[in-house]
Amino acid sequence: MSAQPSPPGHDQISNFCSHVIATHGARWPVDENTIASEFVMLPGAQDCISDSQLVDLCSRLFVDVQWVDLPPGNSGINVCYGDRRTIFVRKAEFPGLREHVLLHELREIFEYKFRELGHPLAKNDIEQRAEAFAVLVRMRSATAAWFTFFEYADNLQSPWQRIAACILVAAGAMVNLICTAMAGPLLDSSAATSCSFAD
Ligand SMILES: [Zn+2]
Repeated sequence: MSAQPSPPGHDQISNFCSHVIATHGARWPVDENTIASEFVMLPGAQDCISDSQLVDLCSRLFVDVQWVDLPPGNSGINVCYGDRRTIFVRKAEFPGLREHVLLHELREIFEYKFRELGHPLAKNDIEQRAEAFAVLVRMRSATAAWFTFFEYADNLQSPWQRIAACILVAAGAMVNLICTAMAGPLLDSSAATSCSFAD
């Protein structure tokens, strides 16, 4: 396993969770919308659309990501051992679902840290929370990307080209948002993800 532990004093997961607690602790427990909003504020997080961009972001958080063969019905696993954290994602998963699974597992890793810091969020609903987090983060990232396309289309010189481009971008954005929202239900909900944790 090639998971790298955080350097001493640079546990980015701990820093993120501590920041969320410090910012929103007065109205704890917060919903996944709040966690997702804070997450996309991490440097580079809002532009994370593809699985490779998310893997880069995870590596900056000192979370190792590995694409592996997993049994059918199991899309992702996270393994935490002390400050070593690894997410295994089923490599046969479709693009779009991979990103969803990765974010789902990352949210579960956040939960371990929230718990450790005395501010747990999930009770018996960690799976539902992790699903909601993954959808909300991907919708925010997609919205930011499509907004950039809209700006480009709106700057075209020809009015007809501008209208056609805006219609195309709007249609693409709609399809993308529907696919993002459907990613969770498309996974085999019977055993979509699992986790393992040890000190
Ligand atoms: Zn899970």
